[in-house]
Amino acid sequence: MKNNLSNIKKAIKYLNNNECIGIPTETVYGLAANAYSDKATRKIFNLKKRPKKNPLIVHYYSLNDLKKDCVLDLNFFKLYKKFCPGPISFVLKLKNDSCISENVTNKKKTIAIRFPSHKLTRSLLKILEFPLAAPSANLSKQISPVSKSDVIEEFGKKIKFTLDGGQSKIGVESTIVSLIGKPKILRLGGIERNSIEKVFIKNKKLKHIKKNIVVPGQGKVHYSPGIPIRLNIRKPKKQEAFILIKKRKYSKKNFYYLSKKNNLKEAAKNLYKTLRKIKKKKFKSIAIEKIPNIGFGETINDRLIRASK
Ligand code: AMP
Ligand code: MG
Repeated sequence: MKNNLSNIKKAIKYLNNNECIGIPTETVYGLAANAYSDKATRKIFNLKKRPKKNPLIVHYYSLNDLKKDCVLDLNFFKLYKKFCPGPISFVLKLKNDSCISENVTNKKKTIAIRFPSHKLTRSLLKILEFPLAAPSANLSKQISPVSKSDVIEEFGKKIKFTLDGGQSKIGVESTIVSLIGKPKILRLGGIERNSIEKVFIKNKKLKHIKKNIVVPGQGKVHYSPGIPIRLNIRKPKKQEAFILIKKRKYSKKNFYYLSKKNNLKEAAKNLYKTLRKIKKKKFKSIAIEKIPNIGFGETINDRLIRASK
């Protein structure tokens, strides 16, 4: 804890100075900067080589902090009560007098926000006098980082500091729900569609906007390991890495398991770590067996389809 305290102090120093740092969250590691500062948030886009039109998710400590920037309604409170802090983001109306930098929202009147549950990052947010804009700490379109060493692999010395919070427990990005008009899911992620739908009306299907209509033209390629990926494969080619959903009795050198026993949550957690491992082994391509399209399987398939484009 002592070590954490001195690291948190370091983090605060950098952030108060308009620098970007790596932070752990339960979903993936973030590249964080003061969301109220134009200078700090511009650096996020430059470091990630992220298109300016792709808005950032802002991370808050408490409802009181959030109230300064956003308009909140009943739907928001229902979901907040059930899932926060945790791997869910909301698109909300921005208040006219909010201090959020225009870089964060791409000058829109809406903003994506979330309350991360990771203890270290909550301790940091509690002390700071501003919320943190934090997209995943990877170069645009690449695999998201789930540990401090992944962040260092992405940015090397280009960022001066990363808080070490161990491996991300969820391992995939947050589920994004838009609460502008009728609630809709904009991105599948760390909370299953089903659990969110249940909060509104039993068994009511929420619209899932597959193409991000709020951010037109956002690249479809994402989460890419930089080599071809083939989906729904039964038999891999000889020189190919093969990703399987559950452990088999027999094994081969090129076999990678996402979970021990077909557990889709565990598989989601291990997805980016596995892709990164394979990328380093210099395989020429990746084959993946069919993954059931239910629960976290839906999130995994969403990422794999984009990674394979
Ligand atoms: P990332 O930072 O890579 O996890 O991605 C953040 C996601 O949030 C992107 O898909 C954005 O399009 C989405 N997002 C952020 N702000 C907004 C907003 N104001 N309206 C709609 N989507 C948003
Ligand atoms: Mg990302």
